[in-house]
Amino acid sequence: MNWYTESWSDECKFSIAYDEKINSEKTPFQQIDFYKGKEFGTFFTLDGLMMVNEKDEFIYHEMIVHPAFATNPNIKRVLIIGGGDGGTAREVLRYKSVEEVVMVEIDERIFRLCQKYLPVTAGGIEEEPRMTLKFEDGLAYVKKAPDASFDLILVDSTDPISVGEGLFTIEFYQECYRVLRNDGILINQHESPYFTEYAENMKRAHKKIKHIFPITHVYQYHMPTYPSGHWLFGFASKVYDPLLDLHAEDWKKFKIQTKYYNTELHRGAFCLPNYVREALVDGE
Ligand code: SAM
Repeated sequence: MNWYTESWSDECKFSIAYDEKINSEKTPFQQIDFYKGKEFGTFFTLDGLMMVNEKDEFIYHEMIVHPAFATNPNIKRVLIIGGGDGGTAREVLRYKSVEEVVMVEIDERIFRLCQKYLPVTAGGIEEEPRMTLKFEDGLAYVKKAPDASFDLILVDSTDPISVGEGLFTIEFYQECYRVLRNDGILINQHESPYFTEYAENMKRAHKKIKHIFPITHVYQYHMPTYPSGHWLFGFASKVYDPLLDLHAEDWKKFKIQTKYYNTELHRGAFCLPNYVREALVDGE
């Protein structure tokens, strides 16, 4: 039995078994490793950190996409920053009402390797006429994007280290604000409250976003293979509030079958534990 192991902190390690290492390469941006095992299926890591596996990818990809559509069912133009595995685009494209999706991934090799080894997320994405694929830095892309050109921005990024750092800056959030329409919504990978390193990233991101968007919330989901399993997304908005403006009945009319997300869970996801609320307030 081979074991993939990730340090979740100095005193906590997480290991899962794999039968075969199916690809390993270093790109100008990061180290990419693909594995295949029984319980978690095919999975890949970036710089040694778990990114996507077949067993729980549905949780992450449903929770980054559907809360925004249940809040504003009229979303037409979507920008995905990162998300090279294709899972976030897959969920967005399930909305027939969406007219255009632009995915800006810095590392083309991620997408090409997922087309080969992870069709559950990348299959059919490139062939979809509503899709535009850009392989460049997300910060550089938003800096040159026109004002008010998207309804929704989904930041499906790595952690705020190495190539992902620029996606957690005030400059990036300000550009996202400018590029969003006046009822636009920004959803970002918002780290985790449990282990110190990730909790500090969480507080820093929230503090920055809170100074730029009038409406800011953080919502939670259970992601078993990410550090502590308690992971968060940020919900930043110009006019819509994810609880006060939840359009549950309109969302159900989309008839999108989900394995994790539903509009009851939506409400609960925004009801954070006290220690998380306090950490977010302390960080302000
Ligand atoms: N779910 C994962 C997580 O929470 O860590 C993220 C998955 S997705 C694969 C992350 C993607 O963000 C990677 O493919 C990475 O190459 C991309 N990425 C990182 N920094 C980027 C940047 N500055 N611009 C565009 N894409 C970036």
